[in-house]
Amino acid sequence: MPIVKYITTDQLLVWVNALIAAQTVYGVQAKEQRFAYDALADAADLRLDFDVTILPPKKFFQPLVETIMKFHVDGHYESVTSEEPFIIFGVHPYDVVAIAQMDEVFRANYADTHYLSRRERATIVACDIQNASPSMFAACMGTATVEDGFDILLTKIGDGYVVDVRTAKGEALLVALGDAPDADAGTLARREQFWDDARRFLNKYLLKCKPTDLPALLEDQYEHAIWEHNAGLCYSCGSCNMVCPTCYCFDVQDEVDWTLEKGTRVRKWDSCMLRDFATVAGGHNFRRRREERYRHRFYRKGQYLWQRMGQIACVGCGRCTTACTAKIANPVELYNTLMEG
Ligand code: SF4
Ligand code: SF4
Repeated sequence: MPIVKYITTDQLLVWVNALIAAQTVYGVQAKEQRFAYDALADAADLRLDFDVTILPPKKFFQPLVETIMKFHVDGHYESVTSEEPFIIFGVHPYDVVAIAQMDEVFRANYADTHYLSRRERATIVACDIQNASPSMFAACMGTATVEDGFDILLTKIGDGYVVDVRTAKGEALLVALGDAPDADAGTLARREQFWDDARRFLNKYLLKCKPTDLPALLEDQYEHAIWEHNAGLCYSCGSCNMVCPTCYCFDVQDEVDWTLEKGTRVRKWDSCMLRDFATVAGGHNFRRRREERYRHRFYRKGQYLWQRMGQIACVGCGRCTTACTAKIANPVELYNTLMEG
């Protein structure tokens, strides 16, 4: 039987503080007019009414910089993985979809133990979107609501929240909640209406085609003039990659101790928009020109990962649009221009 409770906002605060006392909880907090995930010290700092976070929750599973191995000159080495359980409070549906895509990427072919060790220790408390961000198009991408991929889903209805528990990990968190009534039929009907509205209206930009039309559109428009035009404005800063929940490329470097006896292997986020991203041994660069890099990013989202896993690797969060100072990263504007031929 699914567990679906209804709690007041006051009960939510008491519950979150009980969780904070027991383990590490990360939650969305206000940071200078914007929102970001950070360690929660007090439930009062949690903002479930956020529009979008600056960085997506991928940073908890694939940190910006992480040590993946320690090694010694005598040949001894040890892999570094995370053992600490943690809770992420407040993950929007589009980010839940992005996490599921990243799970598939990091499990396929070679299971990435560094990513997976964090992922397996995380409990995801998702929350439905109360406020749309200025650049989102989640309804167009089918990511405004979500049916799985989380442990608990919170939906604000009236003065409280529906708490929808889907996994054993989610159920374990309910112990700290104590007694709460089951959500009644009227409340669940209001949640259905909320989801219907989200699926129809959570867009600030309107994509003029279905997401499933994008691979064929890109197939036809490889030589479109927009690639060269927009690339002429691009700073190759990589911000559009950094903020994207479905970008996962990284670089690996060995950092050797000054004694030359030991060192660490470190991986860091990388960006296909940076000039040297595709440079290989011998100095050849497969995407030396900005136009090639700019175009590649959209093909990777709209065609290459579709071919690999049958999903468009853009969830409509709009973070790239907000992050791009040159105003050329908006996927909706780009795809709609391609549609005009
Ligand atoms: S491409 Fe842009 S809108 Fe799409 S998921 Fe990435 S950051 Fe979000
Ligand atoms: S498209 Fe925008 S955010 Fe991306 S690299 Fe170019 S200037 Fe930077």
